[in-house]
Amino acid sequence: MSTILVTGGAGFIGSHLCETLLSQGHRVLCVDNLSSGSRENVKTLLKHPQFRFIEHNVQVPLKLSEPVDAIYHLASRASPADFGPHGLDILMTNSIGTLNLLNLAKEHRAKLLFASTSEVYGEPAVSPQPETYWGNVNPNGPRSVYDEAKRFGEALCMAFHRTHGLDVRIARLFNTYGPRMRMNDGRVVPNFILQALADKPLTLYGDGSQTRSMCYVTDTVSGLIALMTKASAGSVTNIGTDRELTMRELAELVLKLTGSKSKLAKLPALPDDPTRRKPELGRAKALGWSAQVSLEDGLRETIAYYQARLPAEGCSPDAGPL
Ligand code: NAD
Ligand code: UDP
Repeated sequence: MSTILVTGGAGFIGSHLCETLLSQGHRVLCVDNLSSGSRENVKTLLKHPQFRFIEHNVQVPLKLSEPVDAIYHLASRASPADFGPHGLDILMTNSIGTLNLLNLAKEHRAKLLFASTSEVYGEPAVSPQPETYWGNVNPNGPRSVYDEAKRFGEALCMAFHRTHGLDVRIARLFNTYGPRMRMNDGRVVPNFILQALADKPLTLYGDGSQTRSMCYVTDTVSGLIALMTKASAGSVTNIGTDRELTMRELAELVLKLTGSKSKLAKLPALPDDPTRRKPELGRAKALGWSAQVSLEDGLRETIAYYQARLPAEGCSPDAGPL
């Protein structure tokens, strides 16, 4: 049994990661300030004897009374709807927050995995995007608070690796969806599903030709664990699927799976919205990892999750565009 710290552990991906690590027999310390996560996400885990929840903002150094073997650093708001109102918070969490976690890893001689993003590729000039691609990012546009924050976080991780020999690895996550994304998160999957279930128009931004490659959360979690356990120190690896689809196709699939009568509402395109996202997955596959859940199955699970919550929480995704 290892002791594993998960920052952002009460969030969407983080809560699934905590659950899986506990089921594998590890002790899990979940650090989260509940800014975009919730206690509800970890409610069932709170009773587990090997689970400890620490409410804490990672922008402040964390003192731990027990040794830690590995750190998954996932803390960061991730929805584009948050980039405007919470841009400074995102910048500080991925810079100062990441610095604090790297220092903690150094103090404990722990391995650290940083949850980076496909957003480091910006508006990509190549597709699919290999890890060797340096990206094409607007350094001061509306998405820069996230894209540049993650790029800085990556640079910080590699500097600790080169300077201090710290065992870090970087996961570049492509779009992940599934149960426990906030109802008002603003990202495409909760928006489309909740709109479809309410027979409201689906808010398609732009002409809907922009693509994403959607990965179900359990696959992302097994990818993160594969990187932590099998990837080499200082490595950078994409995690995602190679099923690329347009947002119009995604909207039509959600309508089909929900049986909704909703129409598509065409809204203006978002500024700097990347037109393509598709990972090159050779490195992840070489570690023996690949996504297992089809988009249809993953969406069915996610639809069922929201359907079960509708009476209690209402059905109105109200997060707007950037
Ligand atoms: P999420 O918002 O559900 O989870 C983020 C968690 O971090 C939340 O629980 C939030 O409360 C916590 N948090 C934020 N700032 C914090 C701080 N300063 N201190 C402590 N906790 C803090 O989002 P998610 O989709 O689960 O994303 C998790 C991670 O994965 C993020 O780092 C994100 O950038 C990365 N990522 C996600 C995706 C995706 O498609 N979901 C894609 C690429 C990268
Ligand atoms: N999108 C959309 N309608 C929505 C939310 C998002 O058309 O209600 C589009 C958005 O413009 C982007 C894609 O869906 O092209 C994915 O957006 P999301 O916010 O989920 O994540 P991103 O990949 O942009 O970080």
